Amino acid sequence: MKHLASLAMLLAVIGAPAHAQMAWPKGKSAAIVLTYDDALHSQLDIAVPQLDAAGLKGTFFLDGDITPADMLRWRKVQRNGHELGNHSVFHPCPRAMLPDRKNYLTENYDSDRMLGEIAVMNNVLFGIDGATLRTYSVPCSQMRVGGADYTEALRRSGLVKYVRTGGYAYKSVVADFRTLDVFQVPSYGPVDKPDGATLIAYVERVGKAQGLGVLQFHGTGGDYLEVTAGAHQQLVDWLRQHPEVWVAPFQEVMDYVSAHTR
Ligand SMILES: [Zn+2]
Repeated sequence: MKHLASLAMLLAVIGAPAHAQMAWPKGKSAAIVLTYDDALHSQLDIAVPQLDAAGLKGTFFLDGDITPADMLRWRKVQRNGHELGNHSVFHPCPRAMLPDRKNYLTENYDSDRMLGEIAVMNNVLFGIDGATLRTYSVPCSQMRVGGADYTEALRRSGLVKYVRTGGYAYKSVVADFRTLDVFQVPSYGPVDKPDGATLIAYVERVGKAQGLGVLQFHGTGGDYLEVTAGAHQQLVDWLRQHPEVWVAPFQEVMDYVSAHTR
């Protein structure tokens, strides 16, 4: 019986699943990633100064709709410790979402064209900040082009290390890291002008789960899909007052997650 018990114990150890939860670095209890899509001026004018004043670093996913003057500003942002990520060149979307951009409808793309755009945007970003490893956020949260999903083609291409997908409030707190696909990292993207309390309630939920929360912003105090400057500042203030929560760029957090899940 004793031997049988030992065998059972051994099997239990061998068969034990990997840890669902993450042991965050430096005793931190959870991780928050602040991401901003579409290279908007309101991000340069409002979000970046707010983050800089608090000493927090975010990730800005740029598309090709940027002028040379913008590029110089984004270069400074990256030199200040923020991450510049890839959001494609022409930001294709499904017809139902942006019907006026008939040359850039995902229905008319295929994965070769999509990957070609991502490669070009990598080069544009290299020209801005000189970095060679990129993360990607999916335009219009749409991984289907020409009727086929390009996630696996992108994974095989080696063009980017990690992918942030769209805003899914229902699954946007990552708490079980055994099942996380680093090419489908969900984000929390509230659409209806969330107030500061709503944003703080979300990061508190992430904190309670000791998980990972990726916020997805567009306009900050301007532009569209806006979070007001005041609400963004409230979130920044809360994060500054809670140093137990790790706030870092997407690539840095995902490098840590990848190194500690396998
Ligand atoms: Zn976008």
